[in-house]
Amino acid sequence: MKKRRVVILGSTGSIGESALKVARDIPERMEVVGLAAGKNSARLIEQAREFHPRAVSVAEQSAIRDLQSAIECPVLAGDEGLCELAALPEADLVLIAIVGTAGLRPALAAIEAGKDIAVASKEILVMAGEAVMTAARKRGVQVLPVDSEHNAIFQCIEGRSPEQVRRIILTASGGPFRTLPVADLEKVTRAQALKHPTWVMGAKITIDSATLFNKGLEMIEARWLFDVEMARVDVVVHPQSIVHSMVEFVDNSVLAQLSATDMCFPIQFAVTWPERVPNRLPPLDFTKLAKLEFEAPRTKDFPALDLARWAGTDGGTLPSVMNAANEVAVATFLDDRCSFPAIWRTVESVMRAHRNKPHASLAEILDADSWARAIAAEKIAQFAR
Ligand code: NDP
Repeated sequence: MKKRRVVILGSTGSIGESALKVARDIPERMEVVGLAAGKNSARLIEQAREFHPRAVSVAEQSAIRDLQSAIECPVLAGDEGLCELAALPEADLVLIAIVGTAGLRPALAAIEAGKDIAVASKEILVMAGEAVMTAARKRGVQVLPVDSEHNAIFQCIEGRSPEQVRRIILTASGGPFRTLPVADLEKVTRAQALKHPTWVMGAKITIDSATLFNKGLEMIEARWLFDVEMARVDVVVHPQSIVHSMVEFVDNSVLAQLSATDMCFPIQFAVTWPERVPNRLPPLDFTKLAKLEFEAPRTKDFPALDLARWAGTDGGTLPSVMNAANEVAVATFLDDRCSFPAIWRTVESVMRAHRNKPHASLAEILDADSWARAIAAEKIAQFAR
């Protein structure tokens, strides 16, 4: 049995903390060798004292001095620090769990250094899925999905070729407004949108779950991870979040993966893959599961899914534009400066204003990302409150 030596980028976040729980649960299979945080130096110090990594990294150079006086290992900073940590000689696997697109460069640095990557940060696959998957194939490293839906699909597909897959069926909880009348969406508050019915997650992804942009981003993520075109990626609402996703094969058989709603499940599977090992996570008790329901998503009332299908089908720079505009709009909503529907209205209007570049290079994708952020900031001003 192999012990995986893991770098965690985004260790102070929701996924990062779950990854550390996994490390405590299966220490014989997982050793933490690197930790990177954004601003939360106090928590990073506690984590470093518990796990004794070879190096840590923080977002700002100015935080280095205080950290260095509190812990023994080298302290790195900024984008360079993340990339250096991602290429750490002692690491086998790099978990990318930084919110947004800041994980892209370190993901590519890890691949280049021959490390497998475990990807929670779906934004990087949405933005540069082709570049990441091509680089991984060339270097012969694994891209292991941590998003619970993609981890489920990965478990169901188990190495079968894309030709054997008819459809990937992503399950969506439907978020807190699954049954809210469309007229009431205008009045939704930040606090209401941050109350997810089944998962406890960081703020950005929780808002994305409420708008369904999270599922839209996941559709594009699935397209790249499993090498299927967008027409073969479907979404079904499943409010209980017990079935994490399904794969329909060409023989009309459907495989699904089920577990309790805890991100430690997919994180552990990514760490121990291709093996399974016992843990202390709760098993499913089928006698207590009242029912598993499935229904069609309300695509008219929540336009995010159609916008994502459009972006994923056209490809090029459009997915990156959708993602960047969404990040700006979500940040504005979290600051209480716009309405909830302003999120998708802004994204759609930035996408319509964009001149797509098919088969874009990484530089063109990054340019489109910056362009979209600037335009989104202008457009969202129209929806200010
Ligand atoms: P959180 O907001 O809880 O955590 C984000 C992490 O990123 C924090 O550790 C934060 O550090 C760190 N960070 C932010 N900016 C930087 C930076 N510039 N350099 C280094 N670290 C940085 O997010 P989540 O854990 O919820 O989500 C992380 C990613 O995983 C997202 O892409 C999300 O879509 C994805 N994901 C999350 C799921 C979940 O259950 N939470 C499920 C599936 C996917 P600090 O706090 O110190 O500032």
